[in-house]
Formats: sequence, structure tokens, C-alpha cells
Amino acid sequence: MSKERNIVGVLGAGTMGSGIATVMARAGHDTILFDIDEANLQRGIDTVRGFFDKSVELGKLSPDAGQTAIERISGTTKLEDLARCEVVVEAVYEDLALKKDIFARLDSIVSESALIHTNTSTLSVTGIASGSKLPERVVGTHYCNPAPLMKLVEVADGRHTADWAHKATIDFLRKLGKTTVVTKDRPGFIVNRFLIPWENSCIRALESGVATKEDIDASVRGSLGHPMGPFRLLDIVGMDIHQHVATRLYEQLRDDKFFPPPMVERMVAAGDLGRKTSRGFYEYDDTRLFGS
Ligand code: NAD
Repeated sequence: MSKERNIVGVLGAGTMGSGIATVMARAGHDTILFDIDEANLQRGIDTVRGFFDKSVELGKLSPDAGQTAIERISGTTKLEDLARCEVVVEAVYEDLALKKDIFARLDSIVSESALIHTNTSTLSVTGIASGSKLPERVVGTHYCNPAPLMKLVEVADGRHTADWAHKATIDFLRKLGKTTVVTKDRPGFIVNRFLIPWENSCIRALESGVATKEDIDASVRGSLGHPMGPFRLLDIVGMDIHQHVATRLYEQLRDDKFFPPPMVERMVAAGDLGRKTSRGFYEYDDTRLFGS
């Protein structure tokens, strides 16, 4: 494991899965993106290609390197196609039963030495790993969104994660160029404990008419040095995901600052989820899940 070039499977071709697949291909790994939904799979692959095309256009990658990275990505709707994967990163919907079921099915597909990572934001790594007969190789790896641009990955062991799996995971992530921090398997890990309340307070500021979304975004970029403002970020995160994560953390931590403001519910009801539906706080003329 953790060679210069591994075969990596990514489960779920949504916002995070396509971002994580981009990270893997860019680092030189042969990457298989899996989704049960053909249309979502295609959108995920288009997002990865779009990211590399843009990197070439901006001069960040040579045309050859961009093409090679694109060729490292393949897509499938059959879980069996992940049989040769040495690392599998799960990024499907945030649903415990669904994740446990996938982990149980992976047991009979990938080798016993394969590392199985979950990108869950709010579920317990131990709970997800209980779906597998080999919970010792399951590790929580929480990437920040957008995964190709953000360096940090939070690493959370489940109760039965083996020391070798933890160490191999840190080694693998560092070779991807990621910065790792270790956190306990607790709701929100580190980042979402302060990111979600902060995003909620930005939404409340907009809701109460303090300033326009453009000016709040510009203030955050200009004063805090963030690469993008909260509303651009939330459009990438997805309002459905923000609502789900915020509500789940509120339920677990019982702290009002996690509860999503009313505007979130209205946007979700209207289908204005962000980049994935071409409209959130802002409007977009393409369906790529992230990128400029
Ligand atoms: P998303 O809704 O964009 O994508 C989820 C994908 O999973 C969809 O393409 C869907 O078709 C696919 N899927 C559903 N069931 C499946 C199955 N049985 N097999 C294969 N694919 C299946 O969601 P997302 O925002 O990418 O979130 C994925 C995971 O990452 C969640 O656990 C979420 O909590 C976590 N996460 C999200 C963010 C974020 O900012 N969006 C950040 C960090 C972690």
C-alpha cells in the first residue's frame, strides 16, 4: 500500500467524490469512480475533466500532464469493478444504513489488505465500520470542499481501526500532498464544529439584510483572507448537504448555533442547491460541481 501509484476506487460521483477522484488522478493514481446513478457518474467525470482542462488553460498543468490525469480516471456503475483497488474512498449520501451496506458488499470484492476510507461528515466512523467484517482497516478521512483546492484532511479512527491502517492512511494522504490532522470520532470532527455555525451566521446576516451576498463574500475574502466567501463556498457544498449536516450536528450536539436558518429550507424547497443545480446564492451556466 501507499506506493507512488495505486489503484484507487471512489464511491459516489457527487461533489466530494468527483473532487476526491480529481485529487487521486492528479497524484498519479489510477482512479475508478463508482456511482449507482449513470447521470451523476457522467456529471462527476465531466467535472473532473473540466477541472483538468481549466488547469491546462490557466497554465497550472502542461497539456500532456492534463491529458494523462484525465486518462487515469474511469467510471463504473458496477461495484465489482473495484476488485483491484488498494484504497477505496466512500463518498455516497450521508446515510448510515447505505454506507454500512456498501461496506458489507466491499468485503467480498476488495482484498483484505485494502484500506477503506469514509468521507462522512456527521456519522460515526465506528458505526459505518460496523458494516464491515474487517473494521480494523476502516478509517475516517474527511476532505474539505473543494477537495482539489483544500489541503486539509481530518483523520478519525473508528473504535476498531488498526494502527497499521491509521499509519498507512496518513502516509497515503501526505503523498497526495494533503495536510493531515487527527481527530476523535465525534460529531463534526474539528472543522465543522466551527464552520457550520459560522456559515449559519453569514446566512443570517444576509437574511436580515445587513449587506448583499457579494459584499459579505468580499468582506470575508478581504478581511479573513479566505479564498472564497461563504456563499460561493455554500454553492459548492450544496444547500441540501449544508442543511443535512447542520441539522444532524444540531441533533447530536443540542446547540442552537448549528440549527440551519429558515433561508436554507426555502432554498432547498425551491431546488436552489448551488452549483449542482446551476443555481444557489449565485447562478451558473454549467453543471460542473466545482471549479472556477
Ligand atoms: P452528493 O449528493 O453531491 O453526491 C452523493 C453521490 O452518491 C451521488 O452522485 C449519488 O448518486 C451517489 N450515491 C448514492 N447512493 C449510492 C450508492 N449506493 N452507490 C454509489 N453511489 C451512490 O454528496 P456529497 O456532497 O458529495 O457528499 C458525499 C459524502 O461526503 C457525504 O457523506 C457528506 O457528508 C460528505 N462530505 C460532504 C462535504 C460537502 O461539502 N458537500 C464535505 C465533506 C464531506
